[in-house]
Amino acid sequence: MNILIINSGSSSIKFQLIQMPSETLVCSGLVERIGNKDAVLNYKNETIKLKQIHYINNHKQGLQIIIDLLLDAENGVIEDIKEIAAVGHRVVHGGNTFSNTALVTPEVKQKIQQYAPLAPLHNPSNLEGIEIAEEYFPHAKQIAVFDTAFHQTIPTKARKYAIPNDLYEDKDIQVYGFHGTSHKYVSEKAIEYLKLERSKIISIHLGNGCSMTAIQDGKSIDHSMGFAPTNGLIMGSRSGDIDHSVIFYLVNSLGYSLENVNNLLTKKSGMLGLTGYNDLRDIEKEAEKGNIDCLLALEMNAYRIKKFIGTYVAAMNGLDAIIFTAGIGENSSLIRELVCKDMDFFGIELDKDKNNGKAKSIREISTSTAEARILIIPTNEELEIAKQAYCLLN
Ligand code: ADP
Repeated sequence: MNILIINSGSSSIKFQLIQMPSETLVCSGLVERIGNKDAVLNYKNETIKLKQIHYINNHKQGLQIIIDLLLDAENGVIEDIKEIAAVGHRVVHGGNTFSNTALVTPEVKQKIQQYAPLAPLHNPSNLEGIEIAEEYFPHAKQIAVFDTAFHQTIPTKARKYAIPNDLYEDKDIQVYGFHGTSHKYVSEKAIEYLKLERSKIISIHLGNGCSMTAIQDGKSIDHSMGFAPTNGLIMGSRSGDIDHSVIFYLVNSLGYSLENVNNLLTKKSGMLGLTGYNDLRDIEKEAEKGNIDCLLALEMNAYRIKKFIGTYVAAMNGLDAIIFTAGIGENSSLIRELVCKDMDFFGIELDKDKNNGKAKSIREISTSTAEARILIIPTNEELEIAKQAYCLLN
């Protein structure tokens, strides 16, 4: 069964065609800068890798270009659109309605729309992706996989904010949690690898967005992001945790509008705000040259992660393993080293040689005597979506 995975963002569409149940990646690609004259399409399959520049006005045109390529006589991978049996969609916010993957129905779409104010940058584009796919693939099953679903197991004591009860009960203000597809995927891999029946795992997803999850016996029990994907760790351009008094001070004393504050905390803060660079590779290069801002930002970033590790060890009363995943987690030996430094109290001891090596699959980088294991596990949100879609249909 061919499943097309679509991750539709505000100005991009990521896609993969995966054959299930063999989990074979047939092709993958990304359309970026939708709405621009120089939108970029990157595409690869087993034999070719190509990059094209198009004028792509909107998501509908973007998806049409992807379909044309899938069907292309020279570079395509299918002969008929009907060869795609299902389309799996990443949906960021499923509120407290979805604890599982869902077959798209008018009611499901209505709920995704309803939760749009909670994820204004993501849910509207996710829904648009679904509606365009319904039009282009009328024969295929449409399936929604929610980033928030994995976190529905977080107990009330960790889910509720200490604000009046009616805001939780009537207005649904609470911790939802994000990157659930990634945390689920890597923690299941870890449990399988470690052969554990009972487990206490901390999953650390460090990409452009960064989050951590405490996972006990395979279930999310606490998470660093909350109501929206903004708090917790220091991210590429998001501040993560900040005293909310700062927001009032910015508005009431410094004359910021609420929109400016939002822009400041989500687009101009984090590593970008601290260093002037968004990409961790640039920050590491600058730090090597002695750039003090970059050195401090790396320390701050790792320090915040350490604090969350401490919190989650306390929440689970123990620790079997920590997992590093996503762009930074999988690739930055420096961040891993800074995070694991002076953490032997928790049984975390890094083997520096193993940390500096390279591998595509699961890699264990703890010392042979460490009580808690340190794993690098490449995330694969698209494959997880395909697995869940396949599972739902079979
Ligand atoms: P997204 O959240 O967009 O999926 P990714 O998981 O692709 O993000 O991660 C993007 C981040 O990974 C960027 O900040 C980039 O700097 C970082 N990154 C990628 N490769 C490396 C590397 N070799 N060393 C350090 N950081 C890296």
